[in-house]
Amino acid sequence: MAVTESAPVPTPAELPTTPARTPPAHEGILRRQSLRESAARTYARSLPIVPVRARGLTIEGADGRRYLDCLAGAGTLALGHNHPVVLEAVRKVLDSGAPLHALDLATPVKDAFTTELFSTLPRPLADHARIQFCSPAGTDAVEAALKLVRTATGRTGLLAFTGAYHGMTAGSLDASGGAATARVTRLPYPLNYRCPYGVGGERGAELAARWTESLLDDPKGGVPAPAAMIVEPVQGEGGVNPAPDSWMRRMREITAARSIPLIADEVQTGVGRTGAFWAVEHSGIVPDVMVLSKAIGGSLPLAVIVYREDLDVWQPGAHAGTFRGNQLAMAAGTATLAFVRENRLAERAALLGGRMLARLQGLAADHPTIGDVRGRGLMIGVELVDPERQDPHTGTASAAPALATAVQRECLRRGLIVELGGRHSSVVRLLPPLTLTDEQADAVLDRLADALAAAERATRHPTDAGPSH
Ligand code: PMP
Repeated sequence: MAVTESAPVPTPAELPTTPARTPPAHEGILRRQSLRESAARTYARSLPIVPVRARGLTIEGADGRRYLDCLAGAGTLALGHNHPVVLEAVRKVLDSGAPLHALDLATPVKDAFTTELFSTLPRPLADHARIQFCSPAGTDAVEAALKLVRTATGRTGLLAFTGAYHGMTAGSLDASGGAATARVTRLPYPLNYRCPYGVGGERGAELAARWTESLLDDPKGGVPAPAAMIVEPVQGEGGVNPAPDSWMRRMREITAARSIPLIADEVQTGVGRTGAFWAVEHSGIVPDVMVLSKAIGGSLPLAVIVYREDLDVWQPGAHAGTFRGNQLAMAAGTATLAFVRENRLAERAALLGGRMLARLQGLAADHPTIGDVRGRGLMIGVELVDPERQDPHTGTASAAPALATAVQRECLRRGLIVELGGRHSSVVRLLPPLTLTDEQADAVLDRLADALAAAERATRHPTDAGPSH
């Protein structure tokens, strides 16, 4: 059913009046999409929107409705949609007559991007780093990182974590939590809520680290010789799980002591998102490889790995690809990185994220259906639970995926786009642009609170539910 057939929603100023009748173009586009596009389509299922214009936090659909976009290109849009500095950078390249496609040749645009990127990276890495421009998605950069460390170490095993998400191509999928393959040893990622050791916090993280260390040193542990450990400093798709800094430092010590390269997957956490320019800065660790994508392209596709120069044992052409020279993405990326740096948006994300977390914790006090509120900077998760049912493993309330789906739907009716994540898709995720204002943050949380109340009513009394989408 089309979005605009839902009942009109009480709306703050951002929402224009809802047209009386959905324009046929909008309906037709959605219908043709469902007829022609693959069954694997993802966001399109829960967000039946036809975006035609966007600026900052706001997306406007072909039906004239406006939405506050807290998915922001799955965490890509550090500056929101179509930020003026990004548009200007793209126009400048277009007007200059520079080639749009340049394979992996040197160009002034690429040179400027690399200089800007290196200026933001942890110094001990940047001072001795190489960069490999990869095919344009995050998963391509993960593949490159895995290939690099396997070539450099001559080993094939990999250490990866429960709940991890690294992408959808074969190697990245192997490294992700849903997979079980012979080459990958699955290690416990520290969880505060639902800690498998039943303690959470620093103590739970310490136990997880101890398990990792003893497994690696156990001659009968069954660990294939690892080429690397790959870790997200905050798991995103896994349900917004921030790793304690002390645990990150333990992982650095454990890997360094055993000459195992440490890969930080900062595809989602990078460029200010977590309240530091790179999330590894919170713990102060220096990884051997960093995987970067999403925000570094300033909304356009771009992915790189940056790594210690002594790992650079690749032969010429060992990792090639036609689409590694996207000049528009590099220009948009340079503008984004510089804007985040100059305007201290990482600090702003830390401050505003802290305030949003506090307000959500207040909301949790009134709603037993909120099992946990967590996050770092502007990477925020609200885990929804069924307070009357217990998770047999951890003693916490069990996940409530149906309620989470209802909250997402009610948010959409109120002009708010949110994402779901976590083991059972029961974590409502907020990834707003770092340019979010205080007023916008309030509007987002007002709509979320309202949506939660409506979803609770609807799941308790299904007849209260508004029309579905
Ligand atoms: N790593 C992490 C941590 C991610 O969050 C994602 C995407 N959500 C990826 C890798 C894969 O990136 P892409 O979807 O661009 O392939």
